[in-house]
Amino acid sequence: MTTTTSVHPSERVSLLGFSEIVKIRNRVLEMIGRGQRVLRLEGGEPFMPTPDFIKQAMKDALDANETRYAPSSGTAPLLDAIRAKLAAKNHLPVETSSIIVTSGGAHGLFCAFQASVDPGDEVILFSPYWTPIRDHIAYCGATPVRVPWDELEGKDIRDVLAPRISAKTRLMYVNTPSNPTGCVLSGEQLRGIAELAVAHDLTVISDEAYEDLVYDGEHVSIATFPGMAERTISVFTLSKSFAMTGWRVGYIVAPEVFMTPIRKLVLNSINGVSTPSQAAAAAAITHGAEFIAGARADYRKRRDLLVPALEGAGFRIAPPRGAFYLFADVRERLGGDSWQAMETLLSRTSIASVPGVVFGQEGEGHLRMSLSVTMNVVEEAVDGLGKL
Ligand code: PLP
Repeated sequence: MTTTTSVHPSERVSLLGFSEIVKIRNRVLEMIGRGQRVLRLEGGEPFMPTPDFIKQAMKDALDANETRYAPSSGTAPLLDAIRAKLAAKNHLPVETSSIIVTSGGAHGLFCAFQASVDPGDEVILFSPYWTPIRDHIAYCGATPVRVPWDELEGKDIRDVLAPRISAKTRLMYVNTPSNPTGCVLSGEQLRGIAELAVAHDLTVISDEAYEDLVYDGEHVSIATFPGMAERTISVFTLSKSFAMTGWRVGYIVAPEVFMTPIRKLVLNSINGVSTPSQAAAAAAITHGAEFIAGARADYRKRRDLLVPALEGAGFRIAPPRGAFYLFADVRERLGGDSWQAMETLLSRTSIASVPGVVFGQEGEGHLRMSLSVTMNVVEEAVDGLGKL
């Protein structure tokens, strides 16, 4: 029997979009289902498994029955490990009370935006950007103000950003190294952003998901600049650094003014991250330096093979300075419609990629490909690009 009903979803949730990347994944899975070979460069995860010592730490935690609720802000050993890492690596000496463990960077970013942005606010972000950020801004009822990455070339970052700051500007979202462009902001550029943030009394959300994957230069945390610790919500994740995407562990560092709201958001959304995952995360952060150095060398090797192959195929691409994505301008070779270009590349070379327009309209005419794939896949991709 059917009954009439007026049940309906909240209006709020209609502010959120759906990831277009899912469409590509479905297309790829459909091809694989038909027995076709697909070189899966559309993804965004480390290609290697989680290191054994990290897995062992979780097994040990399970054997020790560390299976009960953890404090919702994080276990003491993990918070201590994060505090030591922040001081040594990011030059951010903070108390553990300024740190909170989240279910990966995605959850950390969700909480960061919800804690700091109101309806009607404007949020400045560089474009192309990681797609979920658009939704995080929309879910706050705020308006994104895009700054094309390309405009930074040869200019003082202050001159590029200042005209975009209005009375409504509340926050700047800074993602370095960047997904999808692989851009890395220099210390000088970050200083410029910091000076503007202080001058206009803005909050900064600093997304440092790829902090360990910088190939040229070094990663700098914007919270280290004068006046920034008190206005920066820094969001970190173990996903990319330690090949732990499925473990869902990340953390936020924030001044007290944001910590209480973020604690409430974490409590009411997840009430803490899985206890054995936190034991593994503590081991990763404390003993993971060697793994990170090896992974970085592996990614660099792949970058140095794939970039010339893309150039040889007629694409324009600067070697990414960080993260593990190749963001190629394909307009001359495959035309300006990036969805069409993705289809053409897929059908001619079996290489799956993500249309650049998915990352904002400044990404149109580009394709994003991951360099985080096995060497066999790299070789097949180089071969395919040679025949394009
Ligand atoms: N920030 C950026 C720029 C990302 O690309 C990602 C993942 O792709 C994340 C944050 C969040 O990753 P996770 O939720 O796995 O920690």
